[in-house]
Amino acid sequence: MSSCLDAGDKTEQNPQLRICTHCNSRMLKWYTPPDMTWGTPYQYVCFNDDCPYYVRGWEWIKQQYNKEASYRHRYNPFVGESGPVPVWSPRALRGRIMQDDETVEQFVSRGGGEE
Ligand SMILES: [Zn+2]
Repeated sequence: MSSCLDAGDKTEQNPQLRICTHCNSRMLKWYTPPDMTWGTPYQYVCFNDDCPYYVRGWEWIKQQYNKEASYRHRYNPFVGESGPVPVWSPRALRGRIMQDDETVEQFVSRGGGEE
């Protein structure tokens, strides 16, 4: 297994990996800032507000922590790992959504990533 930095984006070989396993929506390219622990330039996140994973998350966090928050389905295409990314509102994280054909450098230089 190679490190995530020199491994390629697995969805380029297999576009099916970009489909959310919870709602079958196509996930969006999402910039991961360098201060996050994943060590990836970007990942894919399901931004479908009807995704059952996201909808259930609000209820689950309310019950567990009595907080208004949820999580969205996230896929790391460099290592093939998926999991939750926490959100505190339906708008959260959307400022980091990238265009599919955009590089991280292009995204950052146009001011992307500002919340
Ligand atoms: Zn989904």
